[in-house]
Amino acid sequence: MNFDLTDEQKTIRDMCRKFAREVIAPRAEELERTGEHPYEIIEQMADLGIMGIPFPAEYGGSGGDWVGMHLCIEELSRGDILFGAILDVTTSVVGQELFAFGTEEQKQRWLIPIAQGKELGAFGLTEPDAGSDAGGTRTTAELEGEEWIINGSKQFITNTGLDNSSIVIITAKTQREPDGKEIICTIIVPKDTLGFNVGEKYEKLAMRASATHELFFDDCHVPRDYLLGDIERGFTQHLTVLQTGRITVGAIATGLAQACLDEALGFARKRLQGHRSLFEFQRVPFKLADMAMRIELARTMYLKAAWLKDQGRRHTLESHFAKLYASETATEIAAEVLKISSPYGYLDEYPISRYFKQIKLFEIVEGTSEIQRMIIARELL
Ligand SMILES: Cc1cc2nc3c(=O)[nH]c(=O)nc-3n(C[C@H](O)[C@H](O)[C@H](O)COP(=O)(O)OP(=O)(O)OC[C@H]3O[C@@H](n4cnc5c(N)ncnc54)[C@H](O)[C@@H]3O)c2cc1C
Repeated sequence: MNFDLTDEQKTIRDMCRKFAREVIAPRAEELERTGEHPYEIIEQMADLGIMGIPFPAEYGGSGGDWVGMHLCIEELSRGDILFGAILDVTTSVVGQELFAFGTEEQKQRWLIPIAQGKELGAFGLTEPDAGSDAGGTRTTAELEGEEWIINGSKQFITNTGLDNSSIVIITAKTQREPDGKEIICTIIVPKDTLGFNVGEKYEKLAMRASATHELFFDDCHVPRDYLLGDIERGFTQHLTVLQTGRITVGAIATGLAQACLDEALGFARKRLQGHRSLFEFQRVPFKLADMAMRIELARTMYLKAAWLKDQGRRHTLESHFAKLYASETATEIAAEVLKISSPYGYLDEYPISRYFKQIKLFEIVEGTSEIQRMIIARELL
């Protein structure tokens, strides 16, 4: 067994760590407070080749692998988890879905600008009656001649309503020909398509700079060849790429947990209680030791899942383990660090209050913790 990273993976990790420390972290508080989308940071990430690490150069990528991509995501999320969330959607899910299932024309038209970071992609699965129960999709797509007519709505869709968001890949119910059986397919809907409207941006507990909107499709016409992949396998395709999204959430949450530990270490060094450093109180170093151990386990889990993916091997259990363990661990670590650094940690000016609020999202997206446990239990059986 070999746990060594390749030289290329180490280079990516070190470059992203530096970028996160020098460019991202200094802007994190302001981005959360203002909710403004960080266009110029995304441009810099694009220049560094970060937006398309796992895709070949011919499709605008950097020709790397999923281990390298996830090391990058952990490091960026250590600076600000917002950037992990943006990459999760545009690269791990949308870019990958186009790369794995798209036609050559679809790759040329939509994957290349996404992998180059010039555009961002979104995926729309969740609806009022579909999310955990993805099969409850109500949005419909009817084929009329050479066009799909889409009707319905999607909710909580990330990377939408931005100047640089180009497409949303949606799931929709359709009828299979010739027997009329109802199936779920996936269709690419470019922004500015007539009949496709973006609702107001949601106001959220945190992650305010992550653009999340409701989407509406009213007799929205797109050409027949905007169908993505196999008409009968749209649902399965989507679930396949969401598995990578779970590894990505594992890396994001590991990065945030590491940022919490960094914060706790800094605070414990500085803070004196009756002339004694917090390190001298046994409870604090023991807590820090537990945190470091759990973060290392979370890191090992997402790296193992990403490595299996790079080898083309099955990684269902490993991706669910990575997501569930890292998101719950990061939530607990954020709460513990808030306690260690209280009362200061409760103030907006200390990053731990931001981390504490932001991490909750990652127990929800890409399937809630309950859904992760259900799937893990099903796999065991
Ligand atoms: C900020 C934000 C961004 C998002 N971005 C996207 C996006 O880009 N694209 C997208 O498609 N979606 C996105 N989502 C949606 C998100 O993935 C879903 O909301 C989430 O998966 C939960 O699904 P649901 O909405 O159907 O909730 P529900 O399934 O209604 O969940 C409600 C509660 O019931 C529990 N529950 C549900 N079923 C079971 C069960 N069988 N057993 C036990 N407990 C159960 C859940 O765990 C949860 O606690 C986003 C959500 C948020 C908040």
